Amino acid sequence: VSRTIGVDLGGTKVLAAVVDDGELISSAKVPTPASGGASAVVGAIERAVGQAVDEAGGGEVVGVGLGAPGVVDPDSGTVVAAPNLTGFDRPVPLAALLADALGQERVVVDNDVNAAAVGEHRLGAGRGVDDLLVVFVGTGVGGGMVLGGRLRRGPGGLAGEIGHMVVAERDGRRCSCGHPGHVEAYAGRGAMEAEARRCHEGGERSLLVEAASGKRIKSGAWRDALEAGDAVATRLVDDAVVALGAGLASVVHAVDLELVVVGGGLADKLGATFVGRVEQAVRSRLLVPTSPLRVVPAALGDASGVLGAALLPT
Ligand SMILES: [Zn+2]
Repeated sequence: VSRTIGVDLGGTKVLAAVVDDGELISSAKVPTPASGGASAVVGAIERAVGQAVDEAGGGEVVGVGLGAPGVVDPDSGTVVAAPNLTGFDRPVPLAALLADALGQERVVVDNDVNAAAVGEHRLGAGRGVDDLLVVFVGTGVGGGMVLGGRLRRGPGGLAGEIGHMVVAERDGRRCSCGHPGHVEAYAGRGAMEAEARRCHEGGERSLLVEAASGKRIKSGAWRDALEAGDAVATRLVDDAVVALGAGLASVVHAVDLELVVVGGGLADKLGATFVGRVEQAVRSRLLVPTSPLRVVPAALGDASGVLGAALLPT
């Protein structure tokens, strides 16, 4: 038996899949409960897994891997803190709870971005590369680093946190984590939206805010505004490219990398042009312009999390 189950536990949905040797056999999605505590979340995971297994026609699996949106101790499978999940404002021994609920001996829980990075490394744009960073540009900016072919967590679990690289300490924009001048304060969609609204309210009208009509500014709206030549969108995306370029150049100088994979909702929507601009921004800041570094788009899209999670127990 080589089948495993991967679970991508998100703030709004739980995605579960049966995966066989890197191939997705079946998947199921259920909403993440907004109340009811950790036991409600475990119940939702159980339902999603049950549906995915049913759809795959049942059969045995050798383990379950789960990516959780928060700080995780991968050795014990405890989610230390996940502020976007009900009941996860204190440590939850999720691996142990799931082992009980699912009747599985082998359950591995890791951070969701780490799981997605493993997916891109083993099955996506990073196949065959030993030293790479996977960057996800979405609401925030997350990342996972693989060095010497292995996911690098570091003693404090901070390795690969590209979103919190410091790129503008002095007068830097405030990051969601509270510190000034981090990459995410310039390249995270949440921070970019806040900045666009500030500009708009300050009198510099932007299509981004007008088209959203009071709702969240979606990733596709950034692409549309750029194509229409919107000044605010153009400037904020320029800033995002510079921040990513500076942060990534610092990472390359610290550990040297062969490849950077760029994915996530906003990067996917802005496409290869955006990724090409990030590559240019990194390269122009390197000590040696002939570095073999390449910057490429992610290959697995939304499936990176669930596919990577399925690889965790193998
Ligand atoms: Zn930060």
